[in-house]
Amino acid sequence: MTPYIREKKSFGFEDIPENTAFEAGYLVTVNSGWRNIRPVVNAEKCVGCMQCYLYCPDGVISVKNGKAEIDYNFCKGCGICSKICKPNAIEMEDER
Ligand code: SF4
Ligand code: SF4
Repeated sequence: MTPYIREKKSFGFEDIPENTAFEAGYLVTVNSGWRNIRPVVNAEKCVGCMQCYLYCPDGVISVKNGKAEIDYNFCKGCGICSKICKPNAIEMEDER
């Protein structure tokens, strides 16, 4: 994937792709099997700021209708999205 945003001098929300990995298919196999905690988005608290989307190292967060959505097939449960979310809209919960 071309990191075209880094090459721009300035950019706005319209330049940000719909999903950082665009298709989680860049990760070719489901890699969530060893996850023991998962991020859960509280839609009432989510303000759609896209910080979680920008910081997720696996590019598995998309923002739809102003709310964050997580692809659990590829989320590894690192918790970065939860840490970066200022409105505390993402809580890490046990898998079981
Ligand atoms: S960082 Fe938090 S408030 Fe912002 S889009 Fe993600 S879940 Fe929503
Ligand atoms: S827990 Fe990690 S891999 Fe999963 S959505 Fe959050 S930042 Fe991405």
